[in-house]
Amino acid sequence: MENNFDTICATLTPQALSAVGIIRISGDKAIEIAKKIFSKDIEIKKINYGFVLDDNNNKLDEVILLPFIAPHSYTGEDVVEIQTHGNPSIINSILELILSKGARIAQRGEFTKRAFLNHRIDLSQAEAVLDVIQAKSTKSAQNALNNLGGYLKEKINLIKNDLVEIYSKVIASIDFPEDVAEVDNKAIVSICSDKIQEINEILKNAKSHDFIRDGLSACLIGVPNVGKSSLFNSLLNYSRAIVTDIAGTTRDTIKESVNLDGYIINFVDTAGIRDKNKADLVEQIGIDNSIEAIKQSDIILFLYENDFSEINQELIDLAKNKQVIYIKTKADITPKNDNIDSIEISSKSGFGIDKLKDKISSIIKNLVIEDTNYTTNKRQQTCLLRAKESLENVILTSKETDLADLYAMDLKGAILSLDEITGEVLTDSILDNIFSNFCIGK
Ligand code: GDP
Repeated sequence: MENNFDTICATLTPQALSAVGIIRISGDKAIEIAKKIFSKDIEIKKINYGFVLDDNNNKLDEVILLPFIAPHSYTGEDVVEIQTHGNPSIINSILELILSKGARIAQRGEFTKRAFLNHRIDLSQAEAVLDVIQAKSTKSAQNALNNLGGYLKEKINLIKNDLVEIYSKVIASIDFPEDVAEVDNKAIVSICSDKIQEINEILKNAKSHDFIRDGLSACLIGVPNVGKSSLFNSLLNYSRAIVTDIAGTTRDTIKESVNLDGYIINFVDTAGIRDKNKADLVEQIGIDNSIEAIKQSDIILFLYENDFSEINQELIDLAKNKQVIYIKTKADITPKNDNIDSIEISSKSGFGIDKLKDKISSIIKNLVIEDTNYTTNKRQQTCLLRAKESLENVILTSKETDLADLYAMDLKGAILSLDEITGEVLTDSILDNIFSNFCIGK
């Protein structure tokens, strides 16, 4: 193994009472430390049953001990996992014992960072581990699992390999002009254009990736008392927002997420919008929040009770590039008597709520491109954009000049940006930043 790290340990399970707790030790000394604390000889490639014994041979717990020998482990190093009873005080005393034998506590994401540094996985796969843990919906988890399997890595490498090939030819022609012929500018332009198109294909799905990962946001807009908080509660299936008939009860925006057909919808209940001049200061803050909510939402639910004109035209204009659903509320007491393409609901009786959910689902299906089997995060999207920009510069320069030196720099820049996605050229500070988002024990 290239890297020679110290030995680290941490609990993989939450610090709470549970049936089982798991401690992982990873590094050169993992097996040696395990031998010092285990009641029996440890058999490699076997499930070992026994006790963890302290320095005075007192039993700390009855455990299952699993040894993994490098490189066949999560980190690519020697690893020992100990399954204890899920009692935090037992787990902590075993951890202390392990520390006293020469290990140290792992930092956030350090096990996964080691898997990356030991070349067991690339960076897109390491980030996928975090995505799998944090996935809020089935679809998001599925895509993250595909990334973990190397789906994004392969896509990026396909783009990169062609660029590396042409870059090597360009550099060879610069360094050995007598022996190596110049690369035809047309070939450069053609390859770069193809690669830009492939990058665009991935970026085209970026918004869908964001939707799948973080969910879509939908806000409820309407005059006070129209029934926003009641609908919000119906959509969530529990009473999250306060419902009263005193106008302006909901002054702050409230956010809650629901899982609809495998997708996350982040619903926002806003303060009621009314004439700015008539509203008091607190209400005005709420109004400004509502305007902000429209700007930040993907789907806008406009509610009216009696008359469509209750909905402020300015706000309809503000939402014109968004997905909008008009909702006629309180169907149980005031029947709909207009030709507006709106969904009639009653939060009180539940009438129309399923129809509304179906409508939201169909909007999501239009917004989200389903045929993506992988996902990209913001960092990866930024790298792709940078690679694309460099390739555009290569095309521009190579059309203007035959001097390969001038576009070789940008060609290299594109390759380096793609390398950043898989993690081949990352600095320590970028790595620390990525892995600090993990929990301890991953
Ligand atoms: P908001 O100010 O727009 O959030 O409105 P609320 O959800 O707080 O509702 C205002 C009042 O209308 C409350 O007294 C609710 O009980 C009532 N309300 C809300 N939805 C319905 C409904 O579907 N039917 C009936 N009959 N009353 C409703």
